[in-house]
Parts: sequence; C-alpha cells; structure tokens
Amino acid sequence: MFSVSPVQTITFCDTQIFIKRDDLLSESFSGNKARKFYHFLINEFDDVKLVVGSGSVQANSLYSLSALAKLKGWSLDFYVNHIPSLLKTHPQGNYHAALDNGANIIEIDSEQLALPDMPNLDDKVQLIVQQQYPHLSSEQLLHVPEGGRCQYAKTGIDELGKELLQWAMEQELDKFDVFLPSGTGTTSLYLQQYFAESEINVQVRVLTCSTVGGDDYLIKQFAMLSSRPEYYPTIISDGRKYHFGKLYRQCYEMWQRLGKTGIEFELLYDPIGFIVLEHYLSNRQDDTAIVYIHQGGIKGNETMLPRYQRKFDK
Ligand SMILES: *Cc1c(COP(=O)(O)O)cnc(C)c1O
Repeated sequence: MFSVSPVQTITFCDTQIFIKRDDLLSESFSGNKARKFYHFLINEFDDVKLVVGSGSVQANSLYSLSALAKLKGWSLDFYVNHIPSLLKTHPQGNYHAALDNGANIIEIDSEQLALPDMPNLDDKVQLIVQQQYPHLSSEQLLHVPEGGRCQYAKTGIDELGKELLQWAMEQELDKFDVFLPSGTGTTSLYLQQYFAESEINVQVRVLTCSTVGGDDYLIKQFAMLSSRPEYYPTIISDGRKYHFGKLYRQCYEMWQRLGKTGIEFELLYDPIGFIVLEHYLSNRQDDTAIVYIHQGGIKGNETMLPRYQRKFDK
C-alpha cells in the first residue's frame, strides 16, 4: 500500500547519519502515525462506520486518523480536552488539515456528559464510547487509543523493521543502530521486538530517548506493552528531563541547525532526538552505522514554529 520510504544521508556532528524518510511514505498519510494505523489501512473493516480517537488538538494522530478515515470512507469523532479559541477562529496545522478531511473534533464537556472526575483522556473516551453511541454496534465503531498505543500498531512497525533489514542487506551491513525519539514508546518497542524475533545475521539495536516525562516514565510505558526486557530498546539520555510540547531554546536552535541539512524535521520530537543523539555521538566508543527514523509530523510545524518564533525571535 505504501512504497518503501527512502533512506538518505546527512552529516551531523562530523558523523554520517542515515535518515529513514518515513515522512515521505505517501502524500496524505505518512510518518509515525501512518505506520501505526497501517493495520487499519490494509485490512478490511467492512462493518466500521465510525472511528473514535482522542488526543491533543495539535496531535499528528488527529491528522493521520482523519486521512485514514477519509481513505476508508469512515466518519471520525476525535475527542480533545480543549480547543484554544485562537485555533478555533484561525484553524492551522494538524487541526486545520483534519477539519478539511471532514473530522468531527469534539471538546469534552465533562459536566454535560456527567463524567466522573478522571485525569486520563483515554479513560474518559472509553466511557464516552460506551455511553454516546447506542446506535452503533461494537463492529461498527472502531476506538483507537491515544497516540495509537495498541497491538494493531505492530503490523505497520513490522513493515518498517522489514524495510530497514532489507536496506541493511543492500548496504552489506552486519550491524547497525536505529535511533528514534519516543513518545509512548510503542514504535521503538515494537521495532526492537521485531529485530529480536527476526532470524537474521544482522545485529540491530534500537536506541531511543524520552520526550515525555523522563526515562522512568518511558520504561513504564514499555512495561505496559511487553513484559520481556529483551524487547526493550536502549534508552539514551543527555541527563536532562524534557517535558512534552514545552518550548526550549536549545530545541529551537537544534531545529534551525537541522534545517541546513536540506531536510525539514518536526519540532516536538526531532530536536530532542538530535540533542540526545549529539550527546551520544560525542561519548560513544564505537562507530556503528546509525539510522535515524524521520517520523513525519511536519504539518505540526505550522503551529509549533509560530510559537517558537513568538517566544525566541524578538
Ligand atoms: C507519535 C510520534 C512519535 C512517538 O511515537 P511513539 O510510538 O508514541 O513513541 C514520534 N515522532 C512523531 C513525529 C510522532 O508523530
């Protein structure tokens, strides 16, 4: 369904880094969330009428789910905690693109829905799914957890793993490291699991870093998906704890530096990824080839870049 995403090279910190361009998977449906939702794209879900998702109104998953729903002819109800009023009046980025694709983006009104006080968005949406759609059967309603953290994600991530092994064979590599920044850790974990389960003569390590709440949090996320530590990616860190979506001057500077490679990266995960990678490269003892996964998300720059500019370009 997708063509194989290309691998290009950049020079970063005097080191050649291979970039797996998952941002170029396809025109309207690409990047990390396209890999995660690939299962829904390639399999028949004949009875499904409505897909229900949730997350931030700026999330890549909102845009990707809207693209998927459009391709499949499904409706999309996407629940968010809050839509900033400026965004409502001036839609931009993922929110704008999702509206264009016909998504219903719904602000949760806990009082009106008589929801108990609960902090977790997924839990809220679980209740909404049970209460708000009596006319749809369980086959007709597809509920995708926040960020695509579910077993289904494995189908597309296995495909990514397969493409990487194929590439390594063509390059005649018997050893390489894959690096990608994590949110929920779903992608890095399933990728490490894929390599661990493959019967191959290539030694592959998945390296990742946390962009949400530190390393302990990320390990907890891994544990929610798998009880087998041999499937856990190697977490690398620069000793700092990053908070998701927060604006850091170093991140902005790193993003501007990365722009000089001629490839546009995104502003939520990639800057942290490359800051940590730079730290790693300056301390490592080996020269194993490194493949960085460009996981898309460029649409989000339409809202993230103005935020950065307002804060730091005075
Ligand atoms: C969702 C996303 C991630 C994080 O993926 P996880 O599987 O949650 O770790 C990283 N980069 C981009 C661009 C994403 O959209």
